[in-house]
Amino acid sequence: MSKLDRRDFIRHSIAAGAGAAALGRFPEVSAAPVSGRKVNPIVITSHTNQTGQEAIRQAWDILSSGGTAMDAVEKGANIVEVDPNDHSVGYGGLPNAAGVVQLDASCMDGKTYNAGAVGCLENIKTPSSVARAIMEHTQHIMLVGKGALEFAVSMGFKEENLLTPQSREMWIRWREQLSPDDDYGPKSYLKTLKGGGGSKGSETLPVEYHHGTVNVLAVDSQGDIAGITTTSGVSWKVPGRVGDSPIIGDGLYVDNLVGAAGATGWGEDVMKSCATYFIVGRMRDGRSPQQACEDACDMIVQRYRGIGSDYVPGEKFVALSKDGEVGCAYMGGGGGPPALTLHTPEGQKLYHGRSLYPAKG
Ligand code: ASP
Repeated sequence: MSKLDRRDFIRHSIAAGAGAAALGRFPEVSAAPVSGRKVNPIVITSHTNQTGQEAIRQAWDILSSGGTAMDAVEKGANIVEVDPNDHSVGYGGLPNAAGVVQLDASCMDGKTYNAGAVGCLENIKTPSSVARAIMEHTQHIMLVGKGALEFAVSMGFKEENLLTPQSREMWIRWREQLSPDDDYGPKSYLKTLKGGGGSKGSETLPVEYHHGTVNVLAVDSQGDIAGITTTSGVSWKVPGRVGDSPIIGDGLYVDNLVGAAGATGWGEDVMKSCATYFIVGRMRDGRSPQQACEDACDMIVQRYRGIGSDYVPGEKFVALSKDGEVGCAYMGGGGGPPALTLHTPEGQKLYHGRSLYPAKG
């Protein structure tokens, strides 16, 4: 075969689909029912604090009495969403640059691949429940802003102010430090704010960016899998910004045939890598949930550093297989810890994952 002939042959072969065989076709999906497997239920959350533990306890109550994974993850997510002291999720979450709390959330049902999501939702304490209502009562996946709020109200959700006195104070302090030359936050007022006084004066106390999210993933006794990711996003964000949490395949992905994964951390970096879809794909290809979470960290770091960017790793991934195995990997650019809380028939415990790419210095 001449050189030219060989090139033609290769081109022709790819067009005919032979190239796909060489790459390895997508494995045939089992036609066996994926529900009714009768497995030990399990629920996990990326939160390791007291609220996370309470969330997982109440979610477990549902699972242990034969309830569905979707009901369990919704209950768990709601517990964190209504906690006024959690500044990264729901009520009490830190607002955007204009002082308005805008929430993102998604839910996914691994049995049907149905999903629901909200972006920039204002005035509703439990955005994950609105996401579920979108999944169950519309033909759509995502509603944002005004439309999402109108839909929520039409479904009976109550409109409430999501700013707590504390989250409002933090926003005012952040605004005050933007410029020494504006009139935001008179000093006399700022000195009365929690943490805003002191000998140095409020104007010198930094108010840092905050971000955080909660993932709740579960397998129920029928072997069905569901997940929720919910957040107030990055504090002081540009109004209208939507992060990774409500994007299916970024902040959350669930597949009954494989398992589920959730992401927290800098949303824009998660979105550029479709991280949770990647993790579930790795699990489908035989990697454990722990290995798959670590693979996602490696993939992201290699890509972003490979192009010479000043990328600071700061994401955390959690994953759960359909058989109840868990994984957690964290890139130490901020936040932490690299752990998750889980509940099984043996009780509640903390699972320690791996911290990768620790912050320098
Ligand atoms: N992923 C969230 C966002 O970017 C924030 C976080 O999880 O820290 O909106």
